Amino acid sequence: MEEQEKNNRGLYGFLPSDIEGIRTLARLALDLRWSWDHAADDLWRQLDAELWELTQNPWIMLKTVSREHLEQKLRDKAFQTKMDELISQKQLSETTPSWFQNAHPESPLSCIAYFSMEFMLSEALPIYVGGLGNVAGDQLKSASDLGLPVTAVGLLYQQGYFRQQIDENGMQQALFPFNDPGQLPVIPLRLPNGEWLRLEVTLAGFTVWLRTWQVQVGGVKLYLLDTNDMVNLPVHRNITSQVYGGGNELRIQQEIILGIGGWKLLKALNLNPQVCHMNEGHAAFLILQRARDFMKTAEVSFDVALAVTRAGNLFTTHTAVAAGFDHFSPALMERFLGPYASEELQIEFNHLMALGRQDPNNSSESFNMAYLAIHGSGAVNGVSRLHGHVSRNLFQNLFPRWPQHEVPVGHVTNGVHMPTWDSESADRVWTKACGKDRWRGELQEMHDGLDTISDEMLWQMRTTCRTDLVNNTRKRLEKQMSVAGEPAENLAIAKDAFDPETLTLGFARRFVAYKRPNLLLHDEQRFIRILTNPEHPVQLVIAGKAPPYDETGKGLIQQWVQFVSKHKLYKHVVFLSDYDVLLAEQLVQGADVWVNTPRRPWEASGTSGMKVLVNGGLNLSELDGWWDEAYTDEVGWAIGDRAEHGEDAGWDASEANSLYELLENQIVPEFYARNESGLPVRWIERVRKSMSQLTPRFSANRTVREYTEQYYLPAAANFLNRAAENGAAGVRMVTAKEDLERKWQGINAGIVQIQNIANSYQCRVTVQLNGISASEVSIEMYAEESNGLEAEIIKMLPEPNGQENDGTAFAVQFDSTRAKSDYTVRIIPSYENIQVPLEDKLIFWQH
Ligand SMILES: *Cc1c(COP(=O)(O)O)cnc(C)c1O
Repeated sequence: MEEQEKNNRGLYGFLPSDIEGIRTLARLALDLRWSWDHAADDLWRQLDAELWELTQNPWIMLKTVSREHLEQKLRDKAFQTKMDELISQKQLSETTPSWFQNAHPESPLSCIAYFSMEFMLSEALPIYVGGLGNVAGDQLKSASDLGLPVTAVGLLYQQGYFRQQIDENGMQQALFPFNDPGQLPVIPLRLPNGEWLRLEVTLAGFTVWLRTWQVQVGGVKLYLLDTNDMVNLPVHRNITSQVYGGGNELRIQQEIILGIGGWKLLKALNLNPQVCHMNEGHAAFLILQRARDFMKTAEVSFDVALAVTRAGNLFTTHTAVAAGFDHFSPALMERFLGPYASEELQIEFNHLMALGRQDPNNSSESFNMAYLAIHGSGAVNGVSRLHGHVSRNLFQNLFPRWPQHEVPVGHVTNGVHMPTWDSESADRVWTKACGKDRWRGELQEMHDGLDTISDEMLWQMRTTCRTDLVNNTRKRLEKQMSVAGEPAENLAIAKDAFDPETLTLGFARRFVAYKRPNLLLHDEQRFIRILTNPEHPVQLVIAGKAPPYDETGKGLIQQWVQFVSKHKLYKHVVFLSDYDVLLAEQLVQGADVWVNTPRRPWEASGTSGMKVLVNGGLNLSELDGWWDEAYTDEVGWAIGDRAEHGEDAGWDASEANSLYELLENQIVPEFYARNESGLPVRWIERVRKSMSQLTPRFSANRTVREYTEQYYLPAAANFLNRAAENGAAGVRMVTAKEDLERKWQGINAGIVQIQNIANSYQCRVTVQLNGISASEVSIEMYAEESNGLEAEIIKMLPEPNGQENDGTAFAVQFDSTRAKSDYTVRIIPSYENIQVPLEDKLIFWQH
């Protein structure tokens, strides 16, 4: 460690490295653990209270304060004690076996590489847009808590996503401040000899240098790539300037850097991940580079290498609409990956294109990154139960003639990293109920723990949370108004906004049409009556960015701002600008009710509603995404009828009506119904149920353990199995696959004979396999889902001495309550341990 740090010039480049203790302090400042472990706040406040308040970024602080100040602090006994305490905690948590070591001690899984275009870890590292980055960031933090061997790969953007300002007309202004890498909590990634690791990728004939960076996230590392190197052409230096910036030409280059550059980075560090997890299809080019490496080392063809390596790839899709996938035209692909296909992968360009197409033979079809991800993975999942279903529908076209329920997309419902989102007062309550290490292992005991917490204590927590939000809202509003140029006399409005005793609603998300952020404004007068009821008032805090070129989204923001000023509702409704992690934390900690109004089924999961759970906030949401599986009438409120209604204005109106009715008849009365001690007993009961039932279920701890056990462990085993002996299993699979494809058209089956024997059916069929070995296929009786019965698949077995002139006889006997006519015979591939239909989509139906 010390040796490595000596060479780590980047760490100390701008620090007075000769001061005793500075290295320890730097290690703490560079570990984003401070973004969720509030034990360290005190240390940073001691170092410089004002800078801490302003930046929430210890690394900037270290680089800003004077040498004298540092020396003085590091000599201070109290400061030293705190620092030593934190560093030993850090070391302890990194060396003590965690959940993963305890639950899977013998596992061969030693490295999972997690790829994502964005990571939302802290406002100090603005390389995210929203939900997708949130999922990545929160899962990394939980991986650290659980001791999972994850290494993450992403891009370092010079500007990140835009920052939002609202002008006096309520129009959104987009600002792009520059991220100075020197101020971000990242350091150059140096090799053991001290050299800054740089990689190259080829983009349309040019060599582009990639710089590499390292971020410490508790016990796991996030590596970032950027192109802003002086040696590159200006056009290339700009590739990593903005997250999702520019058009398709920029996007394909970003994705090549993430996927191909990202894999090269892992190899340069001698990491050999068994599992690569793609958070959305943006990183799918890694599939190619991973296969290419295997091809070279094992000296096999690209197809064999892909058959071997794909077993270790997992694709998580986050989109609920087909338009959400990245597509690249054949011409763009040819320009950026044509030579790569022939020189590196040694395949025809059209062979590469087929991996991203629905129809491999359609040479005008564009290249779809989600299709590449599916064709190059051993497993695919959506991000909620409902989204799994939606995705099976979306990807049905890739599996023609397969029943939709067998389209190979499972689901792991998202969760959030609770320690990141809990307030200090919620943390105290949970610590009392379930102990300090509650998010580091299994979660069974949470329910009982919370039962020991009194109503008074829960309500006290809610009051503290809400009061903090009111204070923060006033401060933010005042600042925001003065930035917008409001005259000083108007600033008094900000001081008077909101009330700590008033029922507080929160709404924060991207302002795009499908989220219907103006649904509450459907009947303005009715909503105003709800807000300004003199005995039972309501207040609402709103935040969110509209995509910079989305005029509709910007119009929705303006509508809210104008609603407030037209009706002088300053006391009741506040739009806070520049929604980011810090603002999100304040909102989800303080809101009593979190409102969410997407059009079903467009919200694949949604995560902001999960962030209120740990703080005792309740959800009022459309039955979409995660809420579709979380909702019961004990824990919150729902709108919607679990059906899809498109953009039907009449349906929007009826859902707006449901929102108002729930507020008027249930939510507001329940919040204000107090017992003799002033406690809203029924409300607290609901809070308790929501906290105890939902918080563990929608924590990233549960999500990451599920990924590990359902996907990572089997994927690692499968990959290692196929990779053994230079990919021998892969060779056999490719041979079998080609053989089946050639002979499949010649398959046939005779009439099935079905006989009743008591409550069961005895079935027998003779099939002609056209030279395919019976051991390479599975003959099945199939009944589709109907009248509430689930689909049934019953495997038939070859009859002893079943060779007949016209084929091979197969039979099975099974119990059933269905009609005979429900059943039909089908034949599907079944060789090695191939995943069907993901890896081989052939299917024969007898009709
Ligand atoms: C949680 C979060 C999101 C995602 O919220 P959704 O409910 O999934 O829309 C977006 N942006 C920020 C800043 C967040 O904290």
